Amino acid sequence: MLVHALLPARCLACGRVVDEQGSLCEVCWKGLRFIGGDLCRICGRPREDGRPGDLACAECADEPPAYDIARAALVYGTVGRSLILSFKHGGRIAGASTFARWMVDAGRPMLTDGSLLLPVPAHRWRLFARGFNQAALLAGHVARQTGLVCLPDTLRRVRRTVSQQGLGSRERRANVTPGAFAVAGRDAHAIADRPVVLIDDVLTTGSTVNACSVILRRAGACRIGVLTLARVAQDETQPI
Ligand SMILES: [Zn+2]
Ligand SMILES: [Zn+2]
Repeated sequence: MLVHALLPARCLACGRVVDEQGSLCEVCWKGLRFIGGDLCRICGRPREDGRPGDLACAECADEPPAYDIARAALVYGTVGRSLILSFKHGGRIAGASTFARWMVDAGRPMLTDGSLLLPVPAHRWRLFARGFNQAALLAGHVARQTGLVCLPDTLRRVRRTVSQQGLGSRERRANVTPGAFAVAGRDAHAIADRPVVLIDDVLTTGSTVNACSVILRRAGACRIGVLTLARVAQDETQPI
């Protein structure tokens, strides 16, 4: 595209000029933390308990989430955070296809044949302000790369909640309830007895995807996965 040819390519995280569209500068690339090693088999949080095997973390063993499995490509650290903020608010969307490739890698255990991809819906007014839903954009690319079906309008927001920016984890949990989401009536049959994968940019407290999972379970989804670009690994109260 002409516009792209005229504008210099910028690092997806920090905005420094780079050689290639949709890439990161050397400094940011080095600071990016991909998630690997021993993970909680449910929430995908890196486990640092030193125990081998397919185990759940203490939090999930204590109180299992409403979804069955969650995986993320990156730790929501310094670079992961700027990457997502530039993507979400700065319109730096050239990385969407790269992000989706990382997500497909991380999401292998749940991206099985017949799984339906459902982006976490954005608020209508936020969608209007931003011009796009970053979760839907990622889900579209994951669909293209895997051949799975994406249903972008099946999950809906039915009540406006206040922005979670600047809220602590307890306030966030209180801010999103299952009543905030619904499955569009005409699509309810599409979910019944199917494995579904919720797609979002970042997993923080899990309150949003838990609320969505409750609704999807009620609609008959047989397995609920959550796939995000990044997740908060240590400090669950770190604000977005
Ligand atoms: Zn950079
Ligand atoms: Zn866990």
